[in-house]
Amino acid sequence: MKPPKIAVIGSSSMDLVVTADRRPGAGETILGEAFSTVPGGKGANQAVAAARLGADVHMIGRVGDDAYGQEIVANLKANGVITDYVEPVTDVSSGTAHIVLAEGDNSIIVVKGANDHVTPSYVKNALSLLRECDLIMIQQEVPEETVIETARLCTEIGVPLLLNPAPAREIPDTVIEQAAYLTPNEHEAGLLFPGVPLADVLIKYPNKLFITEGSAGVRYYDGAEEKLVSSFKVEAVDTTGAGDTFNAALGVAVAEGKPLEESLRFANRAASISVTGFGAQGGMPTREEVERGLA
Ligand code: ADP
Repeated sequence: MKPPKIAVIGSSSMDLVVTADRRPGAGETILGEAFSTVPGGKGANQAVAAARLGADVHMIGRVGDDAYGQEIVANLKANGVITDYVEPVTDVSSGTAHIVLAEGDNSIIVVKGANDHVTPSYVKNALSLLRECDLIMIQQEVPEETVIETARLCTEIGVPLLLNPAPAREIPDTVIEQAAYLTPNEHEAGLLFPGVPLADVLIKYPNKLFITEGSAGVRYYDGAEEKLVSSFKVEAVDTTGAGDTFNAALGVAVAEGKPLEESLRFANRAASISVTGFGAQGGMPTREEVERGLA
């Protein structure tokens, strides 16, 4: 079978991680223990996960004209993602997340940098590619107007859009209508539909809204009843990237034409494997690992 063609429009970044005994106070300098750099960003994470699952994945994103940008692109390529539409922006830094791990907790400062340059017109440059896709995926670490324009464009060209509304922010109703799949976690769903019981929201968006519930799995309304598709029992060591893996796997499965419930099981299986490895991309499984886990 020909692999499905997927475009991921989204963020990429470098996570700069310091571990220390404690966090410094204002004006203070302390010695840390270790430093590491880890490629991340929801867009890049989802692109890597989808490529590992065997899809033909094209990333549409932007990096800075800096060393991190080169590393981000190299990492995407090493994972089989096609990066023709990942262009550097001059005089802007790559997206970065500055993470301090101390006292069992993390503090994070995110600098959007080049991700703010994933603009509507930048996406439109890729129109000929987008037209050929079986599915387009986007998240919310790019400007809001880009999400709005992408949803409109997907409707125009007739390609289904999977919108992962993370991080949470309010979304215009038109975008919700235009998206084929919407995948908040419980926290994001609460912010997206404030004051409305989630059971009522699910009924409003049958076979479109999929609320992920961590180790419990994913909930949706199939047009007749509410369903919980259970995830798989695993020894979780790091749940970073569970949502990214879930989204990528759901995208790959529906783009292949798998029935919805089977696609959700595939996504749960992939995401449950991802939490058994460290780092967002570290635990992301290959196709073989997911299929073995479903057999
Ligand atoms: P996010 O990572 O965006 O917060 P969730 O925590 O809801 O999203 O996780 C997304 C999906 O990852 C879940 O629907 C489930 O399939 C899988 N998952 C997450 N945590 C676990 C876990 N501890 N055990 C098994 N599967 C998990």
